[in-house]
Amino acid sequence: MKESLGTSGLILNEPLLWEKSKKGRCGFSIPRRDVDSFPMDENVIGDGPDFPDLSEVDVVRHYTRLSQWNFGVDTGMYPLGSCTMKYNPKTNERQAGLPGFAGAHPLLPTSLTQGALKLMFELEGFLAEITGMDAVTLQPAAGAHGELAGMLLICAFHKDKGQSRSKIIVPDTAHGTNPASASLCNYRSIPVKSNEHGILSSEAVAEVMDEETAGIMVTNPNTLGLFEENIIQIADIVHSKGGLVYCDGANMNAIMGIADMGKIGIDVLHLNLHKTFSTPHGGGGPGAGPVCVKKQLEPFLPVPRIIAKDGEYSLSDDFPESIGKLHAFYGNFGVLVKAYSYILSMGAKGLKNASSLAVLNANYIKEQLKDIFDLPYDRPCMHECVFSDKNQEPDKITTLDIVKRLIDYGFHPPTIYFPLVVHGAIMIEPTETESKENIDLFIDALKQVVKEAKEDPELLRQAPTRTKVRRLDETAAARNPCLTG
Ligand SMILES: *Cc1c(COP(=O)(O)O)cnc(C)c1O
Repeated sequence: MKESLGTSGLILNEPLLWEKSKKGRCGFSIPRRDVDSFPMDENVIGDGPDFPDLSEVDVVRHYTRLSQWNFGVDTGMYPLGSCTMKYNPKTNERQAGLPGFAGAHPLLPTSLTQGALKLMFELEGFLAEITGMDAVTLQPAAGAHGELAGMLLICAFHKDKGQSRSKIIVPDTAHGTNPASASLCNYRSIPVKSNEHGILSSEAVAEVMDEETAGIMVTNPNTLGLFEENIIQIADIVHSKGGLVYCDGANMNAIMGIADMGKIGIDVLHLNLHKTFSTPHGGGGPGAGPVCVKKQLEPFLPVPRIIAKDGEYSLSDDFPESIGKLHAFYGNFGVLVKAYSYILSMGAKGLKNASSLAVLNANYIKEQLKDIFDLPYDRPCMHECVFSDKNQEPDKITTLDIVKRLIDYGFHPPTIYFPLVVHGAIMIEPTETESKENIDLFIDALKQVVKEAKEDPELLRQAPTRTKVRRLDETAAARNPCLTG
């Protein structure tokens, strides 16, 4: 096989700052005192805070070393399925940091924030065009927040018609946050099983759809990385009983500029700007989950809304049917700037190309690995592909062992044990930003790991062996949290 990335070498150990401290060592110099000294009252300040005494170089090395223990998309391939961990062009970060944007106070009068308002107004238009929907709110702060907004919109729609519906259909290939968002709106989730091809059949939906059901929440592409091909017929069935179709569009990275969600029967859809549109994520940083709707749901969108009149932008609360406010001010503005900058710099063709390459890369991996891993749904995938550890069962090697060993080859593990419909799932999403060379290295590393599973299974069970820490207790941090430091 080709040379692996390797993970050992000059990654240095690092003690706590308090362990490095040497009394009297100092990392700064301040001008000589030119006033009389004044004794502090020791009863008030006691011994003072327990700060370590460190030199400047101690501090710089400490934090630099810690940063090198981290792994991110700027370090290497990060193939977490369902997460779209792609490289984000740094120029978009730079635009978001421009002082006029980063320093704008949300309480400034609109006469001084015309640029920010214009950006948000135009971004709404771009997202409407990309999704094929009619109107957009940028307020929700995350995907799940967008789902909640979407469910509230669906509730408001039915209430306006004088109906109160109690159920919502959620397929087994939906994202895990979907039923949680539905239940926050007091909807009972009605599960539907996907068929032998890993997608929903219109018959299964017809069986459960009735006039008590508010609608359906479909993740499309679904969590198996497959496009819900029967979506048009499914939408017809749901609409014929007065229901609405919610699409979890967090996986837009596979279909930008390719699928028109409005035309295929979607009524409301959220996007994750912190997946597809150039905000890095993981670690819980700020995100944005805009919600795009069809005309009939527009009156219910959250306020304030951005209005354009005679070239002037303003904010309006004058939407009596609105579900209200969902976020302080207008959402996470910096994330919106990055999305705007990304969309403009890519252009329509560029966005479509990004999706095409993301899909090509995932299919390439699927084809290259399907001889060594069990592939439960052997059909063209979208931006991610899902294997299981069934072929490794005779060697008593599990998904966990495989991906832990992959770390020794310098790759972040893919998503594992999700989606739940695949036992021992290994879910790989390369994204469009990986080159063929990188993807080939990743494929080679996985092939090597599978070979080792046969020849030296114990090695896999001990993995990772080349990292700073070995196999950790997966649940200790959650079960016995140490909150005092
Ligand atoms: C990531 C994701 C979500 C949740 O988004 P958050 O921003 O983490 O709340 C929902 N649905 C799908 C399909 C996703 O991939």
